[in-house]
Amino acid sequence: MKLAPMKIPPPPPETPMTTPALLFDAVSKNYDGRQALNALSWELGRGEILCLLGPSGCGKTTTLMIAAGLLREDSGRVFLRGREVSGPKNFTPPEKRGIGFVFQDYALFPHMTALDNAAFGVSGGRAAGRAAAQETLKTLNLDDKAHLYPHDLSGGEKQRVALARAIAPSPRIILMDEPFSNLDRHLRERLREKTRAILREKGASCLFVTHSSEEAMWMGDRILLMRGGRIVQQGKPQELFDKPADISAARLFGEINLVSAAICRNGGGLEARSASLAMPATGFRDGDKALLAIRPEAFSLVSEGGGGGGDGDGSGDGNGALSLKGRVLEARPMGGDAILALAAEGFPMPLKARIRNRALPRVGEKVQMRLSPDMMFLFAETPQEE
Ligand code: ADP
Ligand code: MG
Repeated sequence: MKLAPMKIPPPPPETPMTTPALLFDAVSKNYDGRQALNALSWELGRGEILCLLGPSGCGKTTTLMIAAGLLREDSGRVFLRGREVSGPKNFTPPEKRGIGFVFQDYALFPHMTALDNAAFGVSGGRAAGRAAAQETLKTLNLDDKAHLYPHDLSGGEKQRVALARAIAPSPRIILMDEPFSNLDRHLRERLREKTRAILREKGASCLFVTHSSEEAMWMGDRILLMRGGRIVQQGKPQELFDKPADISAARLFGEINLVSAAICRNGGGLEARSASLAMPATGFRDGDKALLAIRPEAFSLVSEGGGGGGDGDGSGDGNGALSLKGRVLEARPMGGDAILALAAEGFPMPLKARIRNRALPRVGEKVQMRLSPDMMFLFAETPQEE
């Protein structure tokens, strides 16, 4: 969608640093009776880069448009530095919100040079605008392109001009809608780093939309994982990797092996059993069926002859149960790591393991693997939408 970028006035007076830069309180939005946002609540901290991550159609753009005031919510309220800017009784128009916006499709003015595009939203007169634009273009290594029109710029250059236009007025909040998704990988990675550096330097808060978990991991201080107009999980990137809320969330941050497990009583507690594997299970009942997700990185090769290279090797404790025997079906070196496909005893499907590429076993060899419980996740066996 093409939208004219907004003029950005100077930001309103400061409120205490603890007040979130931007806050959604139970915001809902329907399009033609279909719910796009379902009572969405979240907050963006001061100076924080928050990545809104989710598949296409989950409501990311709708969220940004409502935050910017380019779209009105059906219910709920939006707060900017503690002040209500949208709600049943209030509506502050986009040009009075002091928010910068970078669109996915650049949305540059075709009849303006890169410099004039970048200067567009800066208040304080033409000279001030050009000075701020010039400096921002320089930061983005575009100073030699300032006189060019959008049709003479490459995709990457256009996107940097769009970035400059959002940044030049020094807004406290910048919203970015999949800004790098049209660029090639190399450029995307460079721009991510540059953007992070600029945001940090300016102390701006940023809500950054992406459908790439890798990009969210790179960019985000925190990640807000969305699906179907709702928040599935939020936290630091590592928290989402270490404690995924469901199977789809686990898949998003890396491959998984998914095997069925049965919950049974073991002494005073419950455990999940899957072939030779057994691990403590909380939040289940005896007799439940569960699914166990195992990251390929959970596996490590037990050295030839068993023991794992030492005395006191945890024999008999809970960890001792996290090992399995299998035959190597495939072994593929991948630089520092190697990928193994294993026919593991008791499992109907081959398991995928990622191990350090040292002493790589041969195809056909029988191996013993140890599994690290922090890369194994137990989920209730309920049908899930992807
Ligand atoms: P995302 O940015 O995550 O891909 P959007 O916020 O664009 O998702 O869209 C969320 C849902 O709302 C989708 O199902 C989409 O088809 C629908 N939608 C978005 N904009 C409109 C619109 N203007 N009219 C009708 N439906 C829309
Ligand atoms: Mg979108």
